[in-house]
Amino acid sequence: MAEQIAFIGLGNMGLPMASNLVKAGLGVTGFDVVPAANEAAAKAGIKVAASAVEAVKGAGIVISMLPNGKLLLELYGAGILEAAAPGTLFIDSSTIDVASARLAHALADSAALASLDAPVSGGVGGAAAGTLTFMAGGSDDAFARAKPVLELMGRKIVHCGAAGSGQAAKICNNMILGISMIAVGEAFVLGEKLGLSHQALFDVASTSSGQCWSLTTYCPVPGPVPTSPANNDYKPGFAAALMLKDLLLSQEAASSAGATTTLGKQAAEIYQQFVASGQGGVDFSGIINTIRGGN
Ligand code: NAD
Repeated sequence: MAEQIAFIGLGNMGLPMASNLVKAGLGVTGFDVVPAANEAAAKAGIKVAASAVEAVKGAGIVISMLPNGKLLLELYGAGILEAAAPGTLFIDSSTIDVASARLAHALADSAALASLDAPVSGGVGGAAAGTLTFMAGGSDDAFARAKPVLELMGRKIVHCGAAGSGQAAKICNNMILGISMIAVGEAFVLGEKLGLSHQALFDVASTSSGQCWSLTTYCPVPGPVPTSPANNDYKPGFAAALMLKDLLLSQEAASSAGATTTLGKQAAEIYQQFVASGQGGVDFSGIINTIRGGN
């Protein structure tokens, strides 16, 4: 694979993702606005550019991994589309609102460039291990071209549909996750009050109709699933602040699409209170402690 990659945004996710491309033998030029991120990237074999515009020069594929849609649109409006060679493919893997993702596609389109929204699931661990799931939105051609590169950073690559569909899939999935973690937390707290052991409830629900990822992979009480953050003092994992971000994106999308998401709305409010109480850095499964009334 001879594609030259530009990677913009070398934070918690971007750096390990870009590093996997380097390990696979691709030439990667990166840029981050934070000097320390550029220093870490250089140590990982990424060629650091002086600016995003410099990074995209000579690249066949430009990947961005930024905090939000506003920053992505600012980046797209700051000369990188003009600096890109004809035929360059722009892949945005940040989690952003669907409207900004569609606008980013339109900007690329009007510069005659191909684009894909391709947010990820799997967190920092998945980014480091190269086992992310990518959810992509864009044309068949853009997807076909991106897939071999995304496969170097992920295990499952799904083409969800047209522009914005990757972001739509991501926020719908994470709305299920936020709601189901609260549901599992409520069930364990009720079980405790009824004198049921954590293990007994886990043994039944994990093989019954209450079965879900929040229970079987990410159990919010210590014991039944030894690898879950509950066994590690609720260190993330997936921080509550990021769960709140995704739930708020789901509510923004629901309101503009005219969808009624009653439980999604409530889950967003519950995580908003959790984060406002200073627990944004706690793993999102720590919500069980608030449900229990512990903090
Ligand atoms: P992060 O804050 O660690 O990294 C983002 C990086 O982008 C930062 O280093 C920042 O300096 C850089 N940046 C911002 N504006 C820039 C610009 N104009 N040019 C160059 N660099 C710029 O965040 P992260 O945890 O790496 O997350 C990145 C994205 O991935 C977010 O959208 C997040 O929601 C999503 N995500 C994160 C996780 C996770 O577990 N961390 C999981 C799935 C998805």
